[in-house]
Amino acid sequence: MLTTAPRGTKDILPRDVEAWRYLERTMREICAQYGYLEIRTPVFEHTELFLRGIGETTDVVEKEMYTFTDRGERSLTLRPENTASAVRSYVENKMYADPAPTKLFYIGPMFRYDRPQAGRYRQFHQFGVEALGVEGPNIDAEIILLAVQILQTLGLKDLKLKVNSVGCPKCRPLHREKLQEYFRPHLGEMCKDCQSRFDRNPLRLLDCKNPHDQELAAGAPSLEECLCEECKAHFEGLKELLTAAGVDYVVDHNLVRGLDYYTKTAFEIQYAPLGAQSAVCGGGRYDGLIEEIGGPATPGIGFAMGMERVLLAIESQNLLPQFDNSIDVFVVCPGSANFTLAFKEAIALRREGLKVEFDFLGRSMKAQMKQANRLAAKYVLILGEDEVARGCAVLRNMSTSEQTEIPIQDITSILKTEVQSHE
Ligand code: ATP
Ligand code: MG
Repeated sequence: MLTTAPRGTKDILPRDVEAWRYLERTMREICAQYGYLEIRTPVFEHTELFLRGIGETTDVVEKEMYTFTDRGERSLTLRPENTASAVRSYVENKMYADPAPTKLFYIGPMFRYDRPQAGRYRQFHQFGVEALGVEGPNIDAEIILLAVQILQTLGLKDLKLKVNSVGCPKCRPLHREKLQEYFRPHLGEMCKDCQSRFDRNPLRLLDCKNPHDQELAAGAPSLEECLCEECKAHFEGLKELLTAAGVDYVVDHNLVRGLDYYTKTAFEIQYAPLGAQSAVCGGGRYDGLIEEIGGPATPGIGFAMGMERVLLAIESQNLLPQFDNSIDVFVVCPGSANFTLAFKEAIALRREGLKVEFDFLGRSMKAQMKQANRLAAKYVLILGEDEVARGCAVLRNMSTSEQTEIPIQDITSILKTEVQSHE
C-alpha cells in the first residue's frame, strides 16, 4: 500500500509531463485568442456549494463526492468539477460589477469516486471555460467554437459535436409531465436511480447509462415540441452561427443536463475511438445557477473537457509532437582534479541561459561521453588534465564530430555564440 498510489489516481511522470504541458499550452493559447482569462480556485469547497451547484439528483452528488469533515467540524468536499467554484468566486468577488461578459478558464485536478477504467479516474484533470453575463446564443456559439478549435489544433479529426436545447423553467414543466407519462408504465423494469429520480427529476432518466433504460429513453417524447418561443429562437440562433462558422453538428434530443438551472443549450463533443469513455467535452447554459447559489440573477454558459481523454485520443492517433529535451553542453571532466573548474564553467554557462549538465559520480571519460550522448548534448566540453595544464579545453560539436581546442577564458563566449548559431 505504501508504494502504490490510491486506486483511480496516477503519477504524471517526467516522461509524460511534456505532453501535458503541450496540451495546457495549446489550451492557454487558444483561450488568449478568445479573450478568456485564467482563474484558479481552491481544490476544496464547502460541501453545500456542490449540493446546490451540481444538484442533489446527479450521480456526482449522490455517489461520487470526496466529502470530509475538517478539524473545525466543517463539511468540505474535494471539487468534482469547477463550474460551481468559478461561479462562487464570480459572486464572492463581485465580478458581475465588471462589464459583461466575464470570460474565465481553468485547468486543474478534479476528484470523483468513479469506477476506474481507461479514461475514467478518481483524480482527473479538466480544462474548462465559463462565460457569465450574456443571454443570447452568440456566446454559446463562441465557446463551442473554442472547444472545437482546441481539439482540431491538437490534430483530432472525426469529432462528433452534439447539441440540444433543454428548455427553461417556463417550458420544461410540460415536457416533465410528458416524460412521466411515458416512463410511468415501465418504471418497474427501470434501474433504482431512475426510479428514485422519476418524481424528483424525470429529465435525468434520459441520461441513464443502463442499456435497457437507454433503449427506453431513445423513444421518450422530445423536448423540442415543448420549447417556448424564446428557447426555440435561442436554439435556432445557435445552430445558425455554428453553420455559418462551418462547424458540423448533430442535434441529439436526449442530450440533457437535467437540473432546473440548466437551461437552453446543452452540448457534448465525442471522439468515438475512445469507446465507452468517448465524451471528451461536455457543457451547457446555466441561467439559473448564479442566483441559486446566492448571486444576482445572471446568465452563464460553460463546458469542461477531460484532459486524460484528450491525451488518450491524441496519443492513439500519434498526434503528439516530438519534444526537444536535448541539452546544450555536457562538461566532461575525467578524474577529480579539475572538478572545481568544470563546476565553475558549467555554472557560468548556465548563468548565460544554456542547458548544461556534468557528471556527479566521478565516472570514467568513456562513461561521461556516453552520458552526454544519452542526454543528446549538442556540444561536449572536455576538461582533460593535459589541456587544462595548457589553459585550454576541447570543444566537440556532437552533430559534426568536429573537435577544436579553445582557451579556458573564452569558453563562455565561444559556447554562447556556437549554441545560438546552432539554433
Ligand atoms: P461521464 O458520463 O463520462 O461520467 P460526466 O457527465 O460525468 O461524464 P462531466 O461532468 O460533464 O462528465 O465532465 C466533463 C468531462 O470531464 C467529461 O466529458 C469527461 O471528458 C471528463 N470526465 C468526467 N469524469 C471523468 C473521470 N472520472 N475521469 C476522467 N475524465 C472524466
Ligand atoms: Mg460521470
